[in-house]
Amino acid sequence: MRRPVTASTTIAGVVGHPARHSLSPVIHNAWIEAAGLDAVYLAFAPSADGFTALVEGLRSGAALGLNVTLPFKQQALDMAGWAEDSARQAGAANLLLFGQDGAIEARNTDGIGLMAALAGAGHAPSAGPAVVLGAGGAARGAVLALLDAGVPAIAVVNRTVERAKAIADLDPRVTAHGWDALAAVLDGAAAVINATSLGMSGQPPLDARLDAAPAACVVMDMVYRPLETDLLRRARQRGHPTADGLAMLIGQALPSFEALFGQPAPADIDVRAICEAALAGRP
Ligand code: NAP
Repeated sequence: MRRPVTASTTIAGVVGHPARHSLSPVIHNAWIEAAGLDAVYLAFAPSADGFTALVEGLRSGAALGLNVTLPFKQQALDMAGWAEDSARQAGAANLLLFGQDGAIEARNTDGIGLMAALAGAGHAPSAGPAVVLGAGGAARGAVLALLDAGVPAIAVVNRTVERAKAIADLDPRVTAHGWDALAAVLDGAAAVINATSLGMSGQPPLDARLDAAPAACVVMDMVYRPLETDLLRRARQRGHPTADGLAMLIGQALPSFEALFGQPAPADIDVRAICEAALAGRP
């Protein structure tokens, strides 16, 4: 049975806009309950100019910290007094930790989530080049995580090639391309990762042919609504190993939970099954 919320219950949460459909409260509250913690994890959706006031209000002892999602990840980094390399290099934070004195520490656990999802599909970073589709914040974080893991070469493919070039400027192992180069860069790739919003419910489809990808190429989609995107469905039909956006979301939530609550997330509950039920609208 769920613990009652009392005056001593601690608070953490996720902040984004929108945040109503976030799975983070589902994940963290399941772990909180399984660990028997006197805590609650909420979702906050301030207006564009309300983010700073929300963080200011929560940081001085009111909350343990916040996960941060679109569109506030850059603002979150700007508010931190100290930032881990993971957040500084990505130029974005998905986790703010509040000290007793109100100090704010920024981290970015998305890279850990991405690499965990890829590893779950059998991907070894040294296996060969990777292709990242997109050049927004998620793509930038993915490129940094892949470089850090030792991936030998990364091709960034984006509609706006200038944005891909800005990521390629980070490291000589990264190259920038338009969509017309997709088949060429997929030839010999060990992984391809969709880091665009294409293919998400309500967004245009992702029109990315996989014909040129070797059979062993791991196909990953950061999008998790729907859980089986058209890209993943086509990849499975072709026999590619696949990783979905939910694996990444849970992969970034694990280190977030440990940092917020000071203990590892309980391993004895199937949080993925809980999320799948939530995505399917089941209780
Ligand atoms: P973003 O900064 O807004 O970037 C969006 C990307 O999608 C850009 O590369 C953009 O290309 C491309 N794009 C959007 N509409 C397009 C269209 N009609 N045609 C071609 N390209 C289009 O977003 P983000 O923060 O990087 O997030 C990207 C995706 O990753 C989102 O779906 C997000 O939910 C997902 N994500 C998932 C996780 C997870 O844990 N699973 C974590 C982080 C992010 P242009 O540069 O040309 O505009």
